[in-house]
Order: sequence, then C-alpha cells, then structure tokens
Amino acid sequence: MSPLSPPTGGIVAKHLALLAAGLLLGLLYAAPIAGVAIAALIAASWHIYHLCQLLLWLRSPVDTPIPPSVGPWSTVFSRIYHERQVTKKLRQSNARRMREWRNVTNALPDAGFVLNGEFQIVQHNDTAGRMFRIDGNDVIGLRITNIIRNPAFVAYLESDRLGEPIIVVPTADASRTYSCTVTRYSADQFLLIVRDITKRQMENRIKADFVANASHELRTPLTVLRGYVNSMAEDNDFDPQWREPVMEMSSQVERMHALVADLMELNQLEARLDAPLETVSICALLEQACKDARRLCDDKIDIQLDCQTNASLLGDASALRSVVTNLLSNSVRFTPAGGTVEVRWWTDPDGGYIMVRDCGIGIAPDDLQRITERFYRTDRGRARHQGGTGLGLAIVKHALSMHQATLSIESQINEGSTFTCHFMPARVTTNSGDKLFAEKGG
Ligand code: ADP
Repeated sequence: MSPLSPPTGGIVAKHLALLAAGLLLGLLYAAPIAGVAIAALIAASWHIYHLCQLLLWLRSPVDTPIPPSVGPWSTVFSRIYHERQVTKKLRQSNARRMREWRNVTNALPDAGFVLNGEFQIVQHNDTAGRMFRIDGNDVIGLRITNIIRNPAFVAYLESDRLGEPIIVVPTADASRTYSCTVTRYSADQFLLIVRDITKRQMENRIKADFVANASHELRTPLTVLRGYVNSMAEDNDFDPQWREPVMEMSSQVERMHALVADLMELNQLEARLDAPLETVSICALLEQACKDARRLCDDKIDIQLDCQTNASLLGDASALRSVVTNLLSNSVRFTPAGGTVEVRWWTDPDGGYIMVRDCGIGIAPDDLQRITERFYRTDRGRARHQGGTGLGLAIVKHALSMHQATLSIESQINEGSTFTCHFMPARVTTNSGDKLFAEKGG
C-alpha cells in the first residue's frame, strides 16, 4: 500500500467501532437504536465538516497549506495536495516550453500559421501579424483564404500538392509576392509557412527585363543580316570560293536567330507564374506537331501518334505547343534515320499524360539530372551540329511548371529516351471545358 493510499480496512473498523460504542451506550439507557443513530450522526457531521473544508480549500490557491485534519481526511487532503503540486509543475513547464517555442517562431523571418482541418487559423507567429497586418486573437478561427486571397492558393489548398511551395500574388496587393507552403503535420492540423519573396521577384524581373531588352536589340540587326546572308546563299551567281563561307555564315545566323528566339521565349515563360485556363485540344495540337516534325526530318523517321483520349487541357496553348515541339524536335534530332518516335496522350484518375518516346542515342544516367538546365548538353559539339540552342528542355520545364505539371525522363544509352509530362486532374477537361475528374481533397 502506498503511503498516500487510504487505509480502507482501518476506516471501516473505526466506523464500526463508533457504531458499536453507540449501540452499547444505547443499551445502557435501553435505547439501542437511538445510540446507533447518534453515533451515525456524529460520524456524518464529522465527514460533512471535512467535506466543506475540502471544498473551501480546493477553491483557494494551489499552495494553500492543508487544513488541520485527521484520519482518512488527512490522507485525502495529502493526496489531492500532491496531485495539485504535480499538475502545477507540469503546467509551469508546459508554459515555459510554449514561451520558448513562441520566441523561436517569432524570431523566424517567415510567417507561420497553424491551421485546423478546415484551414482556419488556430495560431500564428508575430511575423505573420506584421506581414499581413493582423492582430492577435482577432483572426483565430478565420479561414486562411480570408487573409491570403488568391484563386490559385484556394485551388492549391484543395489539391494534392500540399507540401510543395506555391507562388502567390495576393489579389488585393499585386505589389507583393509570397512563397507559401502548407504541410499536414497531424490528422487535422496544417502548418503554413509564408515567405515574402517580393525582393527576389523584383530582382528576377530586372534580370528578365534586361534579357528581354538585349534579345530584342539583337533581333533587329540579326534579321537584317539574316536576310542578306540567306539571299546570298540562294544566289548561285558569285565566286565559288565564297560558297562555303557564305553557307557557314547562313547556318550560324540561323543558329543565332533560333537562340535569340528561345531566349525570349524562356524569359517570357519565367516571368509567368500561372498558366491561363484556355481549353486546349491536345489531339489537334499533337497532330499538327507530328506533321511539322515529319516535314522537319523529311519523313526519315517514323513518327507515330496515339491519342487515347479526346480530353483537353486547361492551359496556355502556345506554351503547351512549345513543350511538344521541343520534345519532338529533340527526339527527331537524336534518333538515327529509319528510327521510330512515338507520341501518346492519355488520362487516368491521376491526371493527363503526354509522352514522347524515341529509340535514339539515349542519355547517360549522370546527365539525366542536368539536361533541363539552360545550355546543358551531353555532347556539346554534336548538339550544336544538330542545330540545338541548348534551351529546349529548359523551356519545356518552365512551360510545364507554369501548368503545375512535371516532366519525368527515362533513358538508356543507345536504346532511346522517354519524356513524360504529367498534368494534374484539375487541368484535364472535356472539350467543352468541363472537369474530367473530381479534385482530390487536401
Ligand atoms: P538542345 O537544343 O541542345 O537540344 P535541349 O535543352 O533541348 O537543348 O536538350 C539538352 C540536351 O539534352 C541535348 O543537347 C542532348 O544532349 C540531350 N537530349 C535532349 N533530348 C534528347 C533525346 N531525345 N535523346 C538524347 N538526348 C537528348
């Protein structure tokens, strides 16, 4: 028996002894029932007195000393006192930990929100208060979409992309740009971290403006040069010793022209965060792209198209065309004559897929990680010779990310490569623009 546990047997014995004494005294006066009743009344009054004492004591501060008590009540008081002291210490240590945690989160440069399963604010740090000019408890219980108002952010919360960052420009304040990441950390609690990337975006915009201006300035003289050089190349009426240099000049000018065009396109794609929601018929787009590619390779490569669905994508038609054209042109350039390139479009409950598969030279595993970087080539000389600008896959990657889509690449040296673009269900529609799949809950 622990020192604090009440001596149950002793209590019962003492009460029985009291009742027996009452009975004996009652017998002495020929009133045994009255004797027992008086004894019971004395016991009950004693207990009621201690009960009142206990209730009064429980209402007093935790550290109030135990009131004088004897017998089982002394044990009850001691036990409750002990429990109250343990609870007090626990509460103090929790409060200390909470204070430390608050200090840490308040020192963070990023805004942090704890959200419940309905994406309502449970708590936030001081940075969030400053960043969104919100005051303490006023916003507790408010849905986060009332603070960060943006349709793409609303769609993100309901998508299966939680955990990945999303760039958000608040509808009410287009001068600011945030990177928001919502992570589920328990069954019905989420952590939202908001980073203000306005300055970084501004620097990117300055860089992008510079590239746009430089490309634009280059394009005008290049167009003039291209016109002259190309007409010289077509003219058979000049000194044959100039034929080779002129042809070389013509091919280099074409390369520069393609490079400037790709630089401008990449620059434009990088500046855009989100693709519009035009309904783009993928079958029509793929048919045209395959037709162009067949012309490009003089039908030396068998280009097969397999449209397994008539579904469309919600996105930017010209960016999607650029994705397909770049993938196809690479496959055609890196596949020997007589080879096959397969293009496929299909959907499943996880979204839509565009695949371009070739049986060309393939890509080494070490290069796979890096080939979407600008100007990264596995074989510089060969790629240049084949007319690439080194920007094709970077364009593909940016055009896809604008559609929240991903690119996966599988390849085996000398066997071929498969490029698959995956679009989330929310972007897949019927031709009349109706969603094909219900969106997954977040
Ligand atoms: P490029 O204009 O040089 O083709 P890309 O960005 O389109 O630039 O491609 C980068 C590099 O990736 C290419 O130079 C080539 O080495 C490799 N690559 C791209 N697509 C393929 C493919 N289908 N087969 C083999 N290698 C490829």
